Amino acid sequence: MNEDIYCQGCGGPIQSEAPDKMGYVPQSTLEKYELDDILCKRCFRLKNYNETQSVEVTDDDFLQMVSSISQKKGLVIHIIDVFDIEGSILSSLHRVVGDNQTILVVNKIDLLPKSTNQQQLKQWIQSTVKSLGLSFLDVYLISSTKGHGFEDLISDVEKLRKGQDVYVVGTTNVGKSTFINRIIKQATGLNEVITTSYFPGTTLGFIEIPLDDSALLIDTPGIVNREQISHYLDETDLKIITPKKEIKPRVYQLNSEQTLFIGGLARIDFLKGERQSFICYFANDLTIHRTKLSNADDLYNNHLGKLLSPPSESSLKSLGKLQSQSYKVPNKKVDFVFPGLGWITISEGDVTVDIHSSKHVSPMMRSSLY
Ligand code: GDP
Repeated sequence: MNEDIYCQGCGGPIQSEAPDKMGYVPQSTLEKYELDDILCKRCFRLKNYNETQSVEVTDDDFLQMVSSISQKKGLVIHIIDVFDIEGSILSSLHRVVGDNQTILVVNKIDLLPKSTNQQQLKQWIQSTVKSLGLSFLDVYLISSTKGHGFEDLISDVEKLRKGQDVYVVGTTNVGKSTFINRIIKQATGLNEVITTSYFPGTTLGFIEIPLDDSALLIDTPGIVNREQISHYLDETDLKIITPKKEIKPRVYQLNSEQTLFIGGLARIDFLKGERQSFICYFANDLTIHRTKLSNADDLYNNHLGKLLSPPSESSLKSLGKLQSQSYKVPNKKVDFVFPGLGWITISEGDVTVDIHSSKHVSPMMRSSLY
């Protein structure tokens, strides 16, 4: 890292080691240009192509940076991923943004089955965030790739911000860059040149996009949540587990003493209860295997990485083997969530299951989304 050289756009320390981190400039560029007016890759792209791209910060750095929002006045947009609500929501959001008003934008809505009742989903999200101790002015369901929900969102943001700046905050991979790039195109038209505002004056790592003559849209670096499974998988595996289009729920009628494997990344053992359906919401490319509970350990030990894949050998090294935990299902419909991977819905009744997952990602039980 070049400790004393800073990006003139966002103020991040210039470095050539980590393309996903703040202040990245390829070594070849560093050698070619004057160092006192250099822009990092993210600011360069914004300036020249009207596009922002993702950068990451660790939790501690993030808290320090984003807490500066609490000293400012503006509307905060917290963007999360509908497919990984638990992994992408920031439970410490209100602490870091202070008294500023916040709205919750739930992205990637195009991944849910078309039959999803959006009003019900919105209510479900509202009660989920309430149980986390969070509250928002409103919740918006959008798709940044398809454009769904943007018209309402943009017109509401225009009213709610009351002429002030807008801060966009989220964990990595929720689609924050895709979201901001769509807003840039929609708000400014493709051809207009956007300039980042120059350091100093910019808060470290934030990049500022003019909304009008007096207000800015501010892109903050994405926060790394170490509990997200994506950090432990190689690129090939990540492609397989990341849904790209509408998820087709897969339904398995199971008797007790049966097991489902989600690739080799997760496993649910149906220990006790009446025959019933287990509805699986995972990327369509991720293979699910049903087997007898009595065969499950052998299958795992002999076929991990082959029949049960992902994980590849390299992913397995960072992910580790599966660990199990027992759950007793209460008398209501629940989802067992494997953060970042997907979830399994169980109807109800007197059911006991064992949930197996990597020690790096904590599975959880929630009241069912559907
Ligand atoms: P960031 O790290 O939050 O800036 O996320 P990116 O904008 O880089 O997006 C991460 C991944 O999610 C990319 O593969 C995007 O194509 C994908 N993505 C972003 N928005 C959406 C969306 O609305 N729907 C779907 N299906 N994928 C999305």
